[in-house]
Amino acid sequence: MATETTTESLTKTTSSKPLPAIKRGQRILTEKPFAFVLKSKYRQQRCDNCLEEGKVRKCSNCRYVYYCNRACQTQAWLMHKHECPFLKRSYPRIVPDAARMLCRLILRLEHGGDLIRGYYTEHGSRKFRDLMSHYAEIKNDPKRLEHLESLHAVLTDMMVDSPSTVPNKTELMSIYGRLITNGFNILDGEMNSIATAIYLGVSITDHSCQPNAVATFEGNELHIYAIEDMPCLDWSKIFISYIDLLNTPEQRRLDLKEHYYFLCVCSKCTDRQEQREMEAAVCPFRKCGSSINVKWTHCRNCQAGITPKLRNTYNEVMAMTKHHLESMKDVAYLDVCKVCLDKQTGVLHPLNVWHVKTLDAAFEAAIEVGKWPEALNYGQQLLQGFRKYNGPWHPLLGLLHMKLGKIQLYEGQCKEAMHHFEEARRILCVTHGREHRLIGEQLLPLVQQAQMELQQQMYRQ
Ligand SMILES: [Zn+2]
Ligand SMILES: [Zn+2]
Ligand SMILES: [Zn+2]
Ligand SMILES: [Zn+2]
Repeated sequence: MATETTTESLTKTTSSKPLPAIKRGQRILTEKPFAFVLKSKYRQQRCDNCLEEGKVRKCSNCRYVYYCNRACQTQAWLMHKHECPFLKRSYPRIVPDAARMLCRLILRLEHGGDLIRGYYTEHGSRKFRDLMSHYAEIKNDPKRLEHLESLHAVLTDMMVDSPSTVPNKTELMSIYGRLITNGFNILDGEMNSIATAIYLGVSITDHSCQPNAVATFEGNELHIYAIEDMPCLDWSKIFISYIDLLNTPEQRRLDLKEHYYFLCVCSKCTDRQEQREMEAAVCPFRKCGSSINVKWTHCRNCQAGITPKLRNTYNEVMAMTKHHLESMKDVAYLDVCKVCLDKQTGVLHPLNVWHVKTLDAAFEAAIEVGKWPEALNYGQQLLQGFRKYNGPWHPLLGLLHMKLGKIQLYEGQCKEAMHHFEEARRILCVTHGREHRLIGEQLLPLVQQAQMELQQQMYRQ
């Protein structure tokens, strides 16, 4: 009897609340690029066709692009034959990636590409012409116009040997506009940008600073994974993030406006508290630890007074941090990060985004020079900020756990390492899918190594 009641109530619960059609971790789109170009800095390390890293051999004619094997070279030739003579002529000069990409788009469109559709549902699809071009905005953007002008010059030179011609300026600008506002960076497993691409179907997806889906890649194939449950596959309610989320709303809006020509009105950008918290100081009363705005007269939690001296120190530390982070954009130096972190202690709130950014830089810099205990310390502090600002289901958070586990494994802390690997697996299975090679080829071997060392440790005891 009891069992029957339970079953009945269970049935009722399930029928009144239907299971979501889309589950977190479900892949909702797989797409091949309409056009793509490997970044020139990787041209001697990765295949120009499949983007695979490894032993690659150059095209004997232009000596500019490299392929992993003959099959890739043959497959790429259809497109490469048009640019090969030009790349050969300009060798050893490096051709701007944007020019190569524009050239490929022009050729693709000329050879029937305008009819190709990228599907985001069984019946929903988009063609290249359906992509936003932001023609009017670009026409009034001197920086973009200057860029396009220089690309036009390269293209004219590039296509002189080709039976194709450079389109007129209006047409070129509309192709360029579509590239600028719809282009994707193809990321490798470590989230480094290795190539630029245009995908047609996925261009249906809008941006949010609090996304419910994420884009990851396997080779040049794009995958969109749901990071939240969804009642159904409704692309008007699916959002990915176009930008780095570890920034203040002000900066994010600036990035989006500058690059994608729209003002973000997502819940995070319109929340005033978000901006305040991201730039918060910490309450001067150590035991309180609340986040405060230095413009206040006192802490709203413990009433501790905020002095002009504290205000000055805060302004100095913020200015110094911003200055150093800007100067370390390309490469971070551990000692500079340490000086900043030292000054930030007791002044900036632990979740102040500039503090989080400094920790991130310190973590990477410490890894770079092999200072493992220090890297571990910064990485562990970084978790909280990454989780808050990137969100709990972000590839970067998964990768951070994986890196932490790796360092701990190296330091012989196998139990702790296992915890981080477990967290990494939980997140990366959602953002990349359990079949992704990042899991099979990188994470799982680490887990096996940790398990083996744990067993050996137990055996020794
Ligand atoms: Zn290849
Ligand atoms: Zn070639
Ligand atoms: Zn936003
Ligand atoms: Zn307080």
